[in-house]
Amino acid sequence: GGTSHSYKTAVDELTVLTSNIFLFPQIFINNEWYTSSKGRTFPTFNPATGVKICDVEEADKEDVDKAVEAAKAAKHRGSPWRRMDGSSRGRLLHKLADLMERDRILLATLETLDTGKPFLQSFFIDLDGSIKTLRYYAGWADKIHGKSLPVDESFVCLTKHEPVGICGAIIPWNFPLLMFMWKIAPALSCGNTVVIKPAEQTPLTALHVGSLIKEVGFPPGVVNIVPGFGPTAGAAIASHMDIDKVAFTGSTEVGQLIKEAAAKSNLKRVTLELGGKNPCIVFADSDLSLAVEETQKGAFYNQGQCCTAASRVFVEESIYEEFVRSSIENAKKIVTGDPLDPQTSHGPQIDRQQFDKIMDLIESGKKEGAKLEYGGTSVGEGSLFIQPTIFSGVKDHMRIAKEEIFGPVQCILSFKSQKEVIERANSSQYGLVSAVFTAIPVYNPDNTREHLDQINCYNALHAQTPFGGYKMSGNGRELGEYALAEYSEVKAVTIKLSETM
Ligand code: NAD
Repeated sequence: GGTSHSYKTAVDELTVLTSNIFLFPQIFINNEWYTSSKGRTFPTFNPATGVKICDVEEADKEDVDKAVEAAKAAKHRGSPWRRMDGSSRGRLLHKLADLMERDRILLATLETLDTGKPFLQSFFIDLDGSIKTLRYYAGWADKIHGKSLPVDESFVCLTKHEPVGICGAIIPWNFPLLMFMWKIAPALSCGNTVVIKPAEQTPLTALHVGSLIKEVGFPPGVVNIVPGFGPTAGAAIASHMDIDKVAFTGSTEVGQLIKEAAAKSNLKRVTLELGGKNPCIVFADSDLSLAVEETQKGAFYNQGQCCTAASRVFVEESIYEEFVRSSIENAKKIVTGDPLDPQTSHGPQIDRQQFDKIMDLIESGKKEGAKLEYGGTSVGEGSLFIQPTIFSGVKDHMRIAKEEIFGPVQCILSFKSQKEVIERANSSQYGLVSAVFTAIPVYNPDNTREHLDQINCYNALHAQTPFGGYKMSGNGRELGEYALAEYSEVKAVTIKLSETM
């Protein structure tokens, strides 16, 4: 949905585009392009080939300061952004979505070049999700309102929902464009200004969107994009005294640093989307082929580089062997190859560091006695491709059952009873998503209270539904109406009625 391009035009234009993409490898502040104040650049690579795409201007603390000054001026009393009606803000967000539709093939190609994710996934999933997120929050922009409250004695009390102010955002490399939209769309809908840092591995689509933000005509300084590294530009955002809120998606370790920096600077608000070790529970009465397909899609989607990855699949004992056999057959259908080839469904990992971490976890699985049923090796000398990998006989104490792998590794465990499996599924430091596969419509709260999330589906995310974690998977919610609360302050206005009324 949401596209005016057919699949065929996409494929035709792709070849022309890859050699001709116009890049924006600079820092975006006040609707202008800047070079690094320290005079430094960093390279970004195509993980499928190892070839450098371009050098990007590296933002550091000074550049973040400059971006914050711009964001501050843009939200100043009397500024065009501050005075703008909600409906006009909504129109700007829709216009940005329109320009992304126009540039859809280019953006999908750029996303694939920078991340290695298969082109059709960039085109359909990432672009679709990004555009829909913008349109969803465009619709909210003039519907954000407070309440009138009944209060004791002769007073009238009203609440107003105001923007938080300057919103910082720090985002990862697994869904660069989508995460960019998850952050800026609700922030702008509520009337905030933004300073956002894309991941150092994948800055290119965000910067292209910078050019669209200018073309749309957002007032200068409303969105500022600072490409750079975590410990420098990222840390400068987290600890900035003039940033009122920071939204982060990434690892749990860095999430802890962000919250600490926020606490030690100005107590800015923090929302965190962190890791997961997500359980799927497959009951014997489920539709087996649906369960095999969905759980595997959950495990291998985006080369397993998802905080929502279905990395622990608990299968009821009586169907365990059949489930493992079918999962192996299903995995054979996955096509590993050039991400720009529309036939490809599986690309490379993002970089060497992630590749090494995943291979180390695969080795640990073998050493700790899990049975390697499929894959487990890299594809081709020196590449970043890892075959989709299936382990059976996985036990709860093994590293592969406890640690977030962030790679294409499916761990299949077996269980005997519902009580036992709920206990085991929940015994994780994380609590992000889960899924249940069963024939019974699972609406009995006694059965499902603790694991109810997705039923007979996986990775079913929508702009309308809230997303976020329990426990060490994070704080706060993104998407849906719930996210609006993360981007607004509530002001109470109390009016005393005169005695004669
Ligand atoms: P990361 O958490 O280090 O990076 C995410 C973002 O945070 C990037 O923009 C990075 O520049 C920034 N960052 C890093 N250090 C920072 C700091 N000290 N202060 C402020 N910002 C900082 O993630 P990674 O190193 O790219 O990947 C490591 C692991 O993180 C993965 O193996 C995976 O487990 C997890 N991860 C999770 C998600 C997710 O969607 N939840 C996404 C990417 C990575």
